[in-house]
Formats: sequence, structure tokens, C-alpha cells
Amino acid sequence: EANERESMYLVNEFAQTYFQKIMLKTDQGQAVGLSYFKERGFTNETIKEFNLGYCLDDWQAFTDEALKKGYQLEFLDKTGLTIVKVDKKFDRFKGRVMFPIHSMSGRVLGFGGRILKADKKAAKYLNSPESEVYHKGKVLYGIYHAKQAIAKEDNCYLVEGYTDVIQFYQTGIENVVASSGTALTPEQIRLINRLTNNITVLFDGDAAGIRASVRGIDLILEQGMNVRVCGFPEGEDPDSFAKQNTLEELTEYLEANAKDFIQFKASLLVKEAKNDPIRKAETIREIVNSISKIPDQIKREIYIQECSKIMAISEEVLFNTLAQLNKKET
Ligand code: ATP
Ligand code: MN
Ligand code: MN
Ligand code: MN
Repeated sequence: EANERESMYLVNEFAQTYFQKIMLKTDQGQAVGLSYFKERGFTNETIKEFNLGYCLDDWQAFTDEALKKGYQLEFLDKTGLTIVKVDKKFDRFKGRVMFPIHSMSGRVLGFGGRILKADKKAAKYLNSPESEVYHKGKVLYGIYHAKQAIAKEDNCYLVEGYTDVIQFYQTGIENVVASSGTALTPEQIRLINRLTNNITVLFDGDAAGIRASVRGIDLILEQGMNVRVCGFPEGEDPDSFAKQNTLEELTEYLEANAKDFIQFKASLLVKEAKNDPIRKAETIREIVNSISKIPDQIKREIYIQECSKIMAISEEVLFNTLAQLNKKET
């Protein structure tokens, strides 16, 4: 209901301002939160731009302050900022650095909070729970900051994490958003598709990152978007890579290494199948399956020609496989 959502936005906006103030104006905030972000290479300007903050390492400092200011416990509970138990209240993000998550129009939908030190018992990142205002499958971290640049550049870089977005933005590439670790959803793709028809998926330089990304990409093809992909050297992610490079170097790297997704997938699968005929047959079906998602017939035909070369298989076989797939679906 509209009133309830409005109250939740107000609580989130209060929390954003509060966490920022705590980080910039208190001893603990500066010593722990601010110095964490500084170590990651974020400037004061960037920290302000993204409204980064810190939640005190205290059971209910935030909740107490919010209640004192007149915000109702009901909405602290519904936004998930406070965990309400029968006899106790806890700050969900106790001791974490805070990344507010904004809507396309800049409202605060929720938060991601990162622990400062590796700890086996606690998740590295904690997010606001699903609620009336926060649906993790419908938000893209960074979209508010990126929207103008996405339209202007007519391309959107898609990364995994909060810090990837921020580091790219600070380096000078502003058309970047993150899916925040979840598999990409059709709603998230539509959000990007309102601004551009082109997407470049950047994945962490580890096998898990590549696998996870490749799976979600057929969804992007289905919406008729052009997809390119680009990996990073082993052990690097967009954040760590951008931190070590200038804008010129980063731009050059992206231009040299971004590949058309279908071509990339075909080469990857060919390498994996090596000379095993059974795996190669599976591989062909898998790549043709991706091609079958593309709504435009001319594009499908061009990709069949490309893949025929990459996979050393006749176009005829690929067209037949495509026809079989289409038959199954109808
Ligand atoms: P950092 O550089 O701060 O260590 P990252 O962004 O590189 O983090 P990844 O491990 O690559 O982290 O994960 C990508 C994204 O997935 C994160 O930014 C976060 O949104 C999400 N994520 C990672 N770990 C968790 C977790 N334990 N629980 C929920 N979400 C997570
Ligand atoms: Mn990763
Ligand atoms: Mn990462
Ligand atoms: Mn990282």
C-alpha cells in the first residue's frame, strides 16, 4: 500500500543519512568505516556520491536513534533495518560498512552491508530482506548513477558487485551496474533495456564467475539485446583491475578483450569438448540453443555462419539443429 511504502522509504532515507553521518563524524566511524573505504581506494567525493556509510558495532544504536527521531518500529521492522524479537531489538547491519541501493529515480530501496574482516561465521555481504520496497530481483545497484551514461554511451557494463560499480565510476566509466551476486532476472534486463540495447557483461577472473554469468546470458539474448562479455585476469575482478589502472588503460583493456557472447561461448565450449565427439555434440546443441533465443532471424543466420567456423561444423547441421529446437518448443 502506498502509505506504507512511503513510510518505508522515509526510514531508509533517514538510515542512509544516519550511517553517512556516523561514518564521517564519529571516532569509530572514521577509524573503522571511513578508513576501510579509503583503503579500497575510494575518494571522499566517491564516498559522498554513493552515500556510503557505517553502522556502529553496537546492538541497537541505530534503532534507538531512529525511534528517538519519531520513526516507527513497524517500519524499521518492515525495511529490515531492525530485527525485532519478542524482548529485544537489533540493528541488522551492526558493525558493517553500508552501500545504499537506489532506484532509477534515486530513492533508497535498501542496503548492502559488508563485514570488515573475513569471518567464517558471518556472510561477507548482508542485504536488506525482501519487502514492499526492496525486491532483489528487480533492482540493479548503481542504476541511478549510471542511467545518463548508459543512454549516452548506448552500452551498459554489468558487473557482480557493489565495489566493482564504484571503482569503475571513480575511474571514469559511469555506465555500469551490478546484479549484486544474484542470477540476472528478466526484470533487471528490462531496466537496462529501457536505456540501451547493448550490454557488456564483465565477470570476475575465476571459473565460478564465468560459469555463473554464462548461465544468465540467454535471458538477455531473449530480450533481443546485443551481448558482449569480458573477463579479467585470474584473481582479479572489475574493482581490483580498475584500481590498478588508469581510465585509458581500462578502456583499452575493455576494447581489446570484450567479445561477442555467442562467439565467446562457442570458443569456450569447443575448448572444453576437445576431441570428445559426445561432448562436442552436446556443445553444439547448447550453442544452438543460445542462438535460438535471439528474436531477430537475420542475426540468427549470421551467428550460425560464425559458429560453423568456430566449431568446425557445417552450417547445414547447425540449421537443422536449430529447426529441431524450434519444433520442440512449439
Ligand atoms: P569484495 O571485493 O568486497 O570482497 P566482491 O563484490 O568482489 O566483494 P564477490 O565475492 O565477487 O564480492 O561477490 C559479488 C557480489 O555478490 C557482492 O558484491 C555481493 O553483492 C554479493 N555477495 C557476495 N557474497 C555474498 C554473501 N555472502 N551473501 C550475499 N551476497 C553476497
Ligand atoms: Mn565473484
Ligand atoms: Mn568480486
Ligand atoms: Mn571484489
